[in-house]
Amino acid sequence: MGVEKLEQAREALRRYYGYDSFRSGQERLVGAILDGRDVLGVMPTGAGKSICYQLPAVLLPGVSLVVSPLISLMKDQVDALNETGIPATYINSSLSAQETTERLRGMVQGRYKLVYIAPERLESERFVSMLRQVTVPLVAVDEAHCVSQWGHDFRPSYMGIVRLLAHIEPRPVMAAFTATATDVVKEDIASRLRLADPVRVTTGYARDNLSLSVVRNADKRDYLSRFIRERPGQAGIVYAATRREVESVHEFLTRLGIAAGKYHAGLSEEEREAAQDAFLRDDLQVIVATNAFGMGIDKSNVRFVVHNNMPKNLEAYYQEAGRAGRDGEPGECVLLFSPADTATQKFFIERSEADEERKKNDYRLLNDMVEYANTSDCLQRNIVRYFGEEDAEPCGRCGNCTDERELVDVTREAKIVFSCVARMRQRFGVTLTAKVLRGANDAKIRQFGFDSLTVYGMMKDKSEKELTQLIHALIADGYLRLTDSQYPVVQLAERVRGVMDGEEKVFRRVEPAVTAPRGRSRGR
Ligand code: ADP
Ligand code: ZN
Repeated sequence: MGVEKLEQAREALRRYYGYDSFRSGQERLVGAILDGRDVLGVMPTGAGKSICYQLPAVLLPGVSLVVSPLISLMKDQVDALNETGIPATYINSSLSAQETTERLRGMVQGRYKLVYIAPERLESERFVSMLRQVTVPLVAVDEAHCVSQWGHDFRPSYMGIVRLLAHIEPRPVMAAFTATATDVVKEDIASRLRLADPVRVTTGYARDNLSLSVVRNADKRDYLSRFIRERPGQAGIVYAATRREVESVHEFLTRLGIAAGKYHAGLSEEEREAAQDAFLRDDLQVIVATNAFGMGIDKSNVRFVVHNNMPKNLEAYYQEAGRAGRDGEPGECVLLFSPADTATQKFFIERSEADEERKKNDYRLLNDMVEYANTSDCLQRNIVRYFGEEDAEPCGRCGNCTDERELVDVTREAKIVFSCVARMRQRFGVTLTAKVLRGANDAKIRQFGFDSLTVYGMMKDKSEKELTQLIHALIADGYLRLTDSQYPVVQLAERVRGVMDGEEKVFRRVEPAVTAPRGRSRGR
């Protein structure tokens, strides 16, 4: 880009936003757009994508369009722009017909530099014909992964963007942005939006102020209540997989006297708005929500995001977890993992109306998510690798990097568990396996004659809870697996062979600190 244009852009950055310099990636994207190139910007939430298209829109002649999926997001963005002195508006279904007409007229009269629209608007003939009367130098597509079937939030209405382009002469510059996209999704965005040899910028996924951790096999309620109480005055989001789970976690926290709100699609719009506003105003410490909450929420002082349940894939996870620490101050992102969450996500996949290919893709993404939950490698590195940054160093902050627990050789115990699973013919769940190892007096055990197995009672010095934890650890490390069913059955995985052959030893970190609550225990 010419020095002159760059100077202009910097000057506008200072004047409108009050910032002295561009962040990494922003300058290249702004420069490319001003040079008339299409761009594909992949930058994590909070990295500053908006400026990349708002600034060129200010500098280019005519009115630029911003396609964005969420109505609430639009209003906030437009309000913020108007406050900084950039004339902008939005047009979506929340407006009256009269208001829409008024704004369209304003657009034609050149009253705005930016017009935000929902993708559905692209289907409106009136809108498209009015567009013909104005100069449109730039179409920015926010949340561009919505155009891809391989992403985590496909919206068919995004397909209308390309049809729209055919109506605008000369063809505007296309600028696509998303927070999260794997290589496959990036390619798909570029081809579906027909980007012309776009300048691609993928900036650092690593967020230096976030510490990620995975807590496995904990009593989730105990963990949550302790975690939140240890952080008085800190705002946080608790994500849960289902509306019912949101209700139940919310009720639990409220009963403990924690100022918690709830948010899910089953609530009325007023209820949701009230909860969101209270959370933004810091009247609530915590909001318990499904993934319906948060897209486009700009609350910068969120100090923690706890996932009570594992989401369907890593893109969704990192996008949600990334809502912590947007102000650059430390943020904690905790995933409470239990194998049952995998079953829940599989259930969602099975129940969905997606075709077979799509389901297979969803299972693949889910496997990457489960791998994250189980890895003993750096969690930050695991994520940035997922997004295609190969040469990342361990972060030194995450739960795995800071795990100082001792590794203990548990090969002998593991072998007993494996042979127990084999003797039970790989047809029973974790609990019954633990009961057999413990030598429990149980009708089902007698019914199947497991009390006459040599492994029966072989680990009676351990509690049933310790044994189920051991079994889950063996699942997490890939020695055992659970079947994909509602009542999962424990089976031997390939990895067991090396152990049984004496080639591989099994290690475990001792004392899974989080599962044994300090202080009072809570009766269920
Ligand atoms: P994204 O859309 O990528 O999630 P935003 O565009 O909302 O991120 O920007 C996140 C925050 O960073 C905002 O508060 C924004 O004002 C701030 N920001 C963006 N660019 C810069 C910059 N060059 N210098 C300082 N702050 C910036
Ligand atoms: Zn790490």
